Amino acid sequence: MGKKIIVAGLGHGGIAAAAILAKAGYDVNVYEQKNEGELGYDWTDIFAPDSLAVAGIPMPDEDKYTYKENMTFYGPSERVGLKQHVPENDLEIKLERKDIYAHLINHALGCGVNITYGCKVNRPIILGSRVVGISTEKCDFFGDLIIDACGMNSPVRMNLPASFGIEKNVARHEKISIYRAFYNKECDVTDKYKVILLKDGKPGICWVATEENHTDLLIGRFEDFDMEEVLRFSDLLRQTNPSLGTEVLRGGQFVEIPTRQPLSLMIGDGYAAIGDSAFMTVPLIGSGIANCLRASRILADAVIADTDEKYNCETLWSYQYNFFKKLGSGLAPLASAKMILLDLSVEEADYLFDSGMINEDNITIGASFTSINSMEIDILDVINKAKLVCKNTSLLKKLPKCGLNIGKAIGVCSVIPKTYSYDRVMAWKKRYEAAFKF
Ligand SMILES: Cc1cc2nc3c(=O)[nH]c(=O)nc-3n(C[C@H](O)[C@H](O)[C@H](O)COP(=O)(O)OP(=O)(O)OC[C@H]3O[C@@H](n4cnc5c(N)ncnc54)[C@H](O)[C@@H]3O)c2cc1C
Repeated sequence: MGKKIIVAGLGHGGIAAAAILAKAGYDVNVYEQKNEGELGYDWTDIFAPDSLAVAGIPMPDEDKYTYKENMTFYGPSERVGLKQHVPENDLEIKLERKDIYAHLINHALGCGVNITYGCKVNRPIILGSRVVGISTEKCDFFGDLIIDACGMNSPVRMNLPASFGIEKNVARHEKISIYRAFYNKECDVTDKYKVILLKDGKPGICWVATEENHTDLLIGRFEDFDMEEVLRFSDLLRQTNPSLGTEVLRGGQFVEIPTRQPLSLMIGDGYAAIGDSAFMTVPLIGSGIANCLRASRILADAVIADTDEKYNCETLWSYQYNFFKKLGSGLAPLASAKMILLDLSVEEADYLFDSGMINEDNITIGASFTSINSMEIDILDVINKAKLVCKNTSLLKKLPKCGLNIGKAIGVCSVIPKTYSYDRVMAWKKRYEAAFKF
């Protein structure tokens, strides 16, 4: 009976898949490098709560979460603010990252998952063309399927032999570097939740969220930056955001999030990647919790459907196929759309806001959608936008190219092979990777 599942890393999708499989009778062991109680960051996160139900996880206790507030979006010069108006039923929940982890882990333990903390995974163990285990700092562990939930720089994915054909590295433009901290709140403001694009011409976004007892600062860039730059940039932000104090109360760390298209191949014989390890974040905003919870169900269904317990490319392909049909084909084009943020000048970005080319409806959909499939096209709005683009010669050069790249991504995702054959899958993978060579 091949029912021994190893999960490398306590990533969110890995824990959720582990719980479903343990509940279905599989012997599931998770190996996590950090110590018990040390997971997560010292700040809050937001995600769509319906993803919990998809993974069979109950809602957290009501005192643990609040609903996310609508944010107001600005161009670099902060002249025109566009406020989201997300319908109440679609609001995401906000809770402490440590509480999210505690909730998922308690659920998994209740389902029978075994977790070993303080156990760093070094690499996969390969036998022939198959992953048969993981080598850790403690010892080697063997299983019938290795689920890789070790995050963006997973040592499992990055040490797979080239013959697996699985992408290893993340290019600079495919990830966003984040500095985040809670500062003391200097004063109350009416515009409490601000997101600013390309502030000071820097490629990326930042937010200043004035909460009850602190002001939450996030600086996200598609380039490296350091503490000196954080000090300079936060001083600049204070000129227009008086609630932002100077004393760091919580956080104050640099982290990275993948903001690229999902892996072109997320399975191999004895191997499946999930979560940040397979790049399942929404490329425009870096949210990944809801997607990997949803993916956990798709992966577990593929494993359970493999009644011959082969866990190879043929049987695991249904995981990749269904992931792309349900999520990936909506996420991947957003990786192309994101590239415009690296290309716009301050003047062009301001023009989008000042001219009315982007409006509050667009911001509401744009900032909360998790897939290009969820966008509804309003033809009149598109015509008005086209007229405004025509009035701006530099945008006229950039936006059609971006549109073409989005079209290429949509096209290749729509022809993903339904069943696995090595030649067909490799040909599709090549086309998919080519669609993101900008
Ligand atoms: C600053 C920040 C803010 C974010 N905010 C949000 C948000 O508000 N909403 C949202 O939906 N998403 C957010 N995300 C993204 C989200 O955290 C991830 O997309 C999501 O958690 C999926 O990632 P993961 O769990 O697969 O990987 P990770 O979160 O990277 O977890 C990987 C796990 O594997 C462990 N691990 C890594 N290497 C090894 C090893 N060698 N051996 C053993 N264990 C290992 C790690 O310790 C970790 O526990 C944010 C990310 C960051 C960095």
